Amino acid sequence: MLLNNIEEVKKNIKEWKKEGFKIGLVPTMGALHAGHLSLIKKAKASCDKVVVSVFVNPIQFGPSEDFDKYPRTLDADERLCNREGVDIVFAPSPKEMYGDAGRLSNDTLTYVCPPFFYVNKLCGKTRVGHFDGVCTVVLKLFNIVQPDYAFFGQKDAQQVVIVKKMAADLNVPVEIIQCPIVREESGLALSSRNKYLTDEGKKDALVLSKILNNIKTCYQKGITDVSALKETAYSFLTDKHELEYLEILDKNTLEEKLHADNNSIVLIACRVEGVRLIDNTYLGGI
Ligand code: AMP
Repeated sequence: MLLNNIEEVKKNIKEWKKEGFKIGLVPTMGALHAGHLSLIKKAKASCDKVVVSVFVNPIQFGPSEDFDKYPRTLDADERLCNREGVDIVFAPSPKEMYGDAGRLSNDTLTYVCPPFFYVNKLCGKTRVGHFDGVCTVVLKLFNIVQPDYAFFGQKDAQQVVIVKKMAADLNVPVEIIQCPIVREESGLALSSRNKYLTDEGKKDALVLSKILNNIKTCYQKGITDVSALKETAYSFLTDKHELEYLEILDKNTLEEKLHADNNSIVLIACRVEGVRLIDNTYLGGI
């Protein structure tokens, strides 16, 4: 069932709560692919009722980012959700979510601001205000859907850490379930933004997973010095790649380390054909 209206969603939730159903929420921006599908399948397997939100959230995009051209494929998304037995596809308009408050306009909207320590690094460093927008929309979705479980991908590793922190700090009664990264056979992590890439760009984009795999191999061979591990990336980069960051941090706290260990995560952001791509891997396995 496709719903655009917050009150209609709440009506259904109220009925489900009366029945004692376990509710799962999968927040997305649509243009659904097999990565999203893995979250939906996990939700279906562990919950009585599943809500998938499809919302390109204006307040998490900076003024020069791709909000306007972000792929919107609601009909196909709805078909896919129906096939998976999703109970509600919630696809509100920006006006339904924010009234007349504009993009990144914290003059007239109450925002959730995650802690500086978690935000002032990785994607948050260049995407100023991004995680305020993410946390604000995610808390609104939590309040509307009141899920027992909410499903997020490790693909956006900083996002999951920040959402978990927000839920803990604000006592939101939800369990955050993290799901592994789904990749193409080539190793390229699935992303709605891959649609922007040409075939050649997709080949150049393999550099992200190659760098991550190589660092993992070096770590498994006994190299733990973070600077030395990061150094190994440079031989993979050409003038087709604009590296934004490559970091090795604690996977739970995002703290920097001098030496990598089995709790480390390697995270990379790199532009290919002007498209900003991110990927990551755990050094100690899943
Ligand atoms: P998005 O629509 O890009 O906001 O993503 C919605 C959710 O799907 C987020 O929790 C993402 O981390 C997750 N996701 C996106 N790509 C993948 C992927 N390749 N594998 C697993 N989860 C993913």
